[in-house]
Amino acid sequence: MAPNGTLPLFVDLRTAPTTRDIASMVKRGGGAVALTEAERRADEASYQDVACRSALNAVRGMPFNWTLNPYRGCTHGCHYCFARRYHTQFELNAGDDFASVILVKRNVVDVLRRELDRPTWTRELVAVGTATDPYQPIEGLYRLTRGCLLALAAGRTPIGLVTKGPMIVRDRDAILDVARAAAATVYMSVPTVDENAWRTLEPGTAHPMQRLRAVRELVDAGIHAGVLMAPVVPGFSSSRAKLERTIKAIADHGARFVGCNVMHLQGGTRSHFMDFLAREFPAMHPRFERLYKSKYPPSEYRKQIQGMVRALQNRYGMTRREDGAARVETLVVKEEAEQVGFAW
Ligand code: SF4
Repeated sequence: MAPNGTLPLFVDLRTAPTTRDIASMVKRGGGAVALTEAERRADEASYQDVACRSALNAVRGMPFNWTLNPYRGCTHGCHYCFARRYHTQFELNAGDDFASVILVKRNVVDVLRRELDRPTWTRELVAVGTATDPYQPIEGLYRLTRGCLLALAAGRTPIGLVTKGPMIVRDRDAILDVARAAAATVYMSVPTVDENAWRTLEPGTAHPMQRLRAVRELVDAGIHAGVLMAPVVPGFSSSRAKLERTIKAIADHGARFVGCNVMHLQGGTRSHFMDFLAREFPAMHPRFERLYKSKYPPSEYRKQIQGMVRALQNRYGMTRREDGAARVETLVVKEEAEQVGFAW
């Protein structure tokens, strides 16, 4: 980084490590301390340049076949984040490392352009921001997400983009370019407008109302934007009163749709969340152990939450927002073996 805080003019990506190199450096060096070239910034996070070999990532078993993540790790640091466990792919941990060691794919825009230019590219939908937030604060400096959006527009490729970052309004023009060239939907993640739950569970994110104001700005600009209440966290944001306040606020801000799912816990995310509870909310810990005997809470519990959400969507007109037609995008939570008998 240049002394005045601007980007250096030249970045030699021929010498930047790949994510595989990072994994072996961390493994050999005994942790994130091995990343001696990572730049520590004022937010106390370390940023490590990496050279990616591919930008588009093929996935299976999802409602889309391709994902794109310009960054890995996320300084928003949500305690429930399902992507925490992916950080272990780089031998980094799903706890502090996930929120404080960020891999920056500095060549992602060029690599993406080349991939979109291939004659074999069929212009399938690309899901942006599935493993980390594409509008976490460092995007203000690197503008990699913006570069990717411009490349996707040029490549006439449709997108679905998930974020908690109000910075997205900066890129209204680029999203509109994608929408005109193909299609674009923005999913703003606002699990709850409850202040305590927000402060407790999403320590690095913008205030929920700021996110909803961003939705208003996107919709006013003509962008198809809505809200995902994802996830609803049992005991923190699951009461009817909190769900109602949230859905009312979403409706008041002109969201085109609202979806919802209940938190699931798996792998490193599970251990991080349970450690966080044991440390900060020891009285709640045993209840979560009972509720999360598998990665999802019992289906009976999820149905209760989803039933409340559906009723509130009806009450606040969220099912009739688009052209008078029913328009609710509810995330489908995969059903697992039924375990009933637990109510929070
Ligand atoms: S903003 Fe999204 S990717 Fe970032 S920590 Fe929160 S849930 Fe995870």
